[in-house]
Amino acid sequence: MMRYRKFGKLDWMISEVSLGVLRQEEIVADPFEINDPERTEAIRYAIEQGVNYINLGYPLFFDDPEEAGLYVTEALDGGYRKKVKIAINIPSRSALSQQDLCYALNKQLDFFNLDKADFCVVDGVDRTSWDALKSMGFASWVSKAISTGKVDHIGLAFHDDAHYLQDIYNTYTEWAFLQIELSILDHTHHPGIGGLKFAKEYDTAVIATDITKAGRLLYNVPEEVRGILDNSLPKRVLEERCIRWALSLEEISSIQLSVQTELCIVDRVKRYFSYFDQFDPDDVDIWEKLTAEQIREAYYAKRDYQCTACRCCMPCPCGIDAPRIVELINDDCMFADSRIAKFQYNLENHQSIECVQCGICNKLCPKRIPLQEIVNIANEKYANKKGAI
Ligand code: SF4
Ligand code: SF4
Repeated sequence: MMRYRKFGKLDWMISEVSLGVLRQEEIVADPFEINDPERTEAIRYAIEQGVNYINLGYPLFFDDPEEAGLYVTEALDGGYRKKVKIAINIPSRSALSQQDLCYALNKQLDFFNLDKADFCVVDGVDRTSWDALKSMGFASWVSKAISTGKVDHIGLAFHDDAHYLQDIYNTYTEWAFLQIELSILDHTHHPGIGGLKFAKEYDTAVIATDITKAGRLLYNVPEEVRGILDNSLPKRVLEERCIRWALSLEEISSIQLSVQTELCIVDRVKRYFSYFDQFDPDDVDIWEKLTAEQIREAYYAKRDYQCTACRCCMPCPCGIDAPRIVELINDDCMFADSRIAKFQYNLENHQSIECVQCGICNKLCPKRIPLQEIVNIANEKYANKKGAI
């Protein structure tokens, strides 16, 4: 049976499981893997089981948004829309002005044929995109958006060090929730547990996404991780361990699963929901936490570069975000899958800045990571040669 958790200061309880659709893993997926009627059925089944929140992703990233979003609009027809709260997204990196924010909001309301959204998530916020949002008068834009009745609440999707949250919350105090990537690997990473502590202090709900790194944790599982799973009792598959690790964090209000990679068919929904059903926080013992740590260390050992994300190598005189590029390369190594790294590299526009080979970053990195070389390798490997997403 579905359980519900407190949702920050709002007078509403969110289902422990929520849904995410039209995400980047759908953009990079093999089109032959996609089966619209099955995904539609899976969404409806999840809603019938009590899921009451769905994040609608960003259809405008797709080459053909109408076709990509068809399974979602069909799933929400027939009265299902009324059973869930809806979140739409504004990608912060592409917003240069309040007009851009309005454009993204209106486009998505039109796309999904909605008069209003329950939530609008400002997506991809980090220290850089936040500076841009702040300088365009973000708080005044939110007031206007809410006063027009097009959106009820604003959520923050954040990926950076937790301490940058302070200025974000000082500038706009009414964030309805904080959305963060929080897999078993992200214990201390951008913002990791620090983000949960911050949210608790401000009584903000937390929606955790990418619990299985959009499925990448589950596909090319390294031999070392298989060994840890084989030797850990009670026997649990990796996807269940990922779910249990996230559920054991009381600050999390809901775990948002991807319809593309986790809940694509009704049988998968049933399987994942059984992990939620069987979870009891009192069962999570020291051995289970230790196993999670061993899995994390085994994945981390697969990274090409042992970067701590300290950012001592910054700033680059040209504006290149070398630590982020290292993170993309490391993700590619850990999961033996370059598709999302490539997509994010181009989406975040790293390919548009040329390295002038000054070598400053190399000199500043205490771990002697060869950033100058890495930046060039990443450009060769990931840059979309046509220059567009
Ligand atoms: S200084 Fe080195 S370890 Fe720190 S973020 Fe930069 S590359 Fe990573
Ligand atoms: S070598 Fe390239 S990436 Fe490193 S600081 Fe100089 S311009 Fe920036």
